[in-house]
Amino acid sequence: MNHELPKQVSVAIVGGGIIGVSCALALARKGVDVAVFEKGTVAGEQSSRNWGWIRSVGRDVKELPLSMLANDIWKDIQSQIDVGYRPTGLAYLAASEGEIAGHESWLEAARDTGARARLLGKAELTRLIPVSKRPWAGALYSEFDGVAEPLAATRGIAALAVASGARIFEGCAVRGLDVSAGRVSGIVTERGLVKCPDVVLAGGAWSRLFCGNHSIEFPQLKVHASVLQTAPIDAGLEVTINGGDFTCRKRSDGGYTVSKLGASVADLTPDSIRLSAKFMRAWLNERKYLKLRIGRRFFDELTIPRRFALDRPSPFEACRTLDPKANLGMLNDALDRLKKTFPSFSGASITRAWAGMIDVTPDALPVISKVTGLPGFHLGSGFSGHGFGIGPAAGRALAELVTGDRPGVDLADFALERFSS
Ligand SMILES: Cc1cc2nc3c(=O)[nH]c(=O)nc-3n(C[C@H](O)[C@H](O)[C@H](O)COP(=O)(O)OP(=O)(O)OC[C@H]3O[C@@H](n4cnc5c(N)ncnc54)[C@H](O)[C@@H]3O)c2cc1C
Repeated sequence: MNHELPKQVSVAIVGGGIIGVSCALALARKGVDVAVFEKGTVAGEQSSRNWGWIRSVGRDVKELPLSMLANDIWKDIQSQIDVGYRPTGLAYLAASEGEIAGHESWLEAARDTGARARLLGKAELTRLIPVSKRPWAGALYSEFDGVAEPLAATRGIAALAVASGARIFEGCAVRGLDVSAGRVSGIVTERGLVKCPDVVLAGGAWSRLFCGNHSIEFPQLKVHASVLQTAPIDAGLEVTINGGDFTCRKRSDGGYTVSKLGASVADLTPDSIRLSAKFMRAWLNERKYLKLRIGRRFFDELTIPRRFALDRPSPFEACRTLDPKANLGMLNDALDRLKKTFPSFSGASITRAWAGMIDVTPDALPVISKVTGLPGFHLGSGFSGHGFGIGPAAGRALAELVTGDRPGVDLADFALERFSS
């Protein structure tokens, strides 16, 4: 995907994850001269490491319009290139009547959004899942939710963008913005300057560092999350499930991707201290699923400069791909619980385990926004562990922000300014 660096483009996108490539696809299809600059490889970070869920159930209702739009776009993408998209149906299993009541509250909150989800009773659920040793009270379910294969999907969307005229430069870090007369006039890459009037930052976990170097405050932290893959197995489970202490979805290769909501760890870092007031409520809300840890990452992140010049190697070149170690203890526990619940998984063996750094905001909603104060700069980051499923719609929304076209989805809840106080 590497070509000679252009001197000028209409829109430069920083980051080749699902958000960056989806934005590139939408812009290229509008005939815009767009280029993506990726410090490592396309889908090297979160976008290839996720569970692959395309989920509306249980989502913050503010994201539901994006989620419903995304379902339509996924179907359209799959009709053009195989990205493993399948509406498998997705169920949040409820272990108790109390959990059913929680799901009823979500359905009530989501009622006016047009979300297509419902409660499943015990009998209906029994027909969907294999024989279970655990009694379930029911489930929150959407037959329209599903999965895609993360790496194939992000690379597939990138390929469609290229076929529509976008250019993608891998191994090309963007050190920062070129600013003239108070507005964006280009990007400074490790291979030189590229002039452009509009920049979209889709830098995942790196967006805070990038913004901070231009005195733009973006409250974002990283959360470590682990995942495992089993060998193909005939376990009789087609629907994607959250069982509370495990999650499981069938892969295109016949194996399963397994994890659990509690497989996430927030390391204490200098940024978590700086942002503690903004994140306190999130930590308290998520304390059941998120473990706070003090370890090496505090000192590792302390060595990363927060301000850096653009005429020498930047922190983005120093780390081409965030590739943390998986937490095998947590993963074995998740697989063990899956096996104890569904005996059809008793022969499941692990073929691969990995981890990723999820980029989170204080309200667990993304920023899909112009950056007021710096015309020409747009931010699409902070997807807080659920940006893969809505990625194609978020990318399209960013493209509409750049071109000034009427937005398909109201983006008021995703403005960067909501964090200024
Ligand atoms: C373990 C795990 C499980 C998840 N499960 C799900 C799920 O089931 N469903 C779901 O919807 N979401 C899930 N997510 C979240 C989802 O993966 C992310 O929200 C989504 O991939 C974010 O996409 P992105 O493009 O913003 O970021 P990324 O995929 O992280 O891409 C950002 C890219 O920007 C590049 N970059 C950064 N700075 C620069 C720079 N200065 N110059 C050049 N390049 C730069 C990086 O190298 C990176 O490739 C999960 C995430 C993880 C880690």
